[in-house]
Amino acid sequence: MSLPAGTRRVALKVDCDTLEGTREGVPRLVRILGDRGIRATFYFTFGPDRSGVAALRVFTRKGFLAKMLRSGAPSLYGWRTMLSGTLLPAPSIARGSEDAMRAAAEAGHDTGVHGWDHVGWHDRLPRMPPERVSEEYGLAHAEYLRVFGVPARTSAAPGWTVSPRSLEVQETRSLRHTSDTRLGAPFFPAAGGRAFTTLEIPTTLPTLDETLAWPDLRGDAAQRAFFRRAPRGTEVHTIHAEVEGRSKAELFAGILDDWLADGVTFPLLSDLADEALEHRSRIPVREVVTARLPGRGGTVATGWPEMATR
Ligand SMILES: [Zn+2]
Repeated sequence: MSLPAGTRRVALKVDCDTLEGTREGVPRLVRILGDRGIRATFYFTFGPDRSGVAALRVFTRKGFLAKMLRSGAPSLYGWRTMLSGTLLPAPSIARGSEDAMRAAAEAGHDTGVHGWDHVGWHDRLPRMPPERVSEEYGLAHAEYLRVFGVPARTSAAPGWTVSPRSLEVQETRSLRHTSDTRLGAPFFPAAGGRAFTTLEIPTTLPTLDETLAWPDLRGDAAQRAFFRRAPRGTEVHTIHAEVEGRSKAELFAGILDDWLADGVTFPLLSDLADEALEHRSRIPVREVVTARLPGRGGTVATGWPEMATR
């Protein structure tokens, strides 16, 4: 599909990683989006909330503490989230927030599977036994089916972390599309000597939890100015229920208002999938590798590593 020159579109992808984020951040995001007539795709984590394990890395990973403090992580994520699964027992996210999940779908948003144990996947996927990868992915899909009554048609890997095995497991579900990677245009992923046929739609814009750590973007006005000009054509923007749905809700609403004022429109990821799949033979096959992004610890999966510069 060819769009008129100058058209700017942003597909919003909402990653929900924790119980607190899903229970409190999702309803707030549904209000913010609903007030503005915008639809988004919400990806839910269904298993244990062990996000406090991630917080512990603050104290064990060099350079992480400075980044966390600079970005105001405790106020950004909330202390309960920071301690879940460490000092506090790990609660089930789905059991504790399924009403908020269903309310997002009832408000007209699209929904999909983010994962089962977000922290475990993100930290250990490359070392996970193959059967554990399919078990975790299967548990998340089973819980999605229980909550929504229909099978999930899309998933988005926790922390943009994939492996040849996880892509293979995803391929066994009849998904319409995934959103597992960062940067570039939609593609079919190749990994481990195999090319897959599930359409991958990458996140193209930097995330707010990354840009908040950029030293040249201090303050809300600088953040708004950056995001206002960030969309160039069709973009995918990932937000977090834990961040934009909580302490940064006002800033996020401001970013949306800027985009709306400039005529930016908000297709769903599934709309972008439909557009791409209309011309299936034109979709490239790209090897999935890892890359580092400014403001994010660790690596992310990408099919377009040449674009990993700012
Ligand atoms: Zn996530």
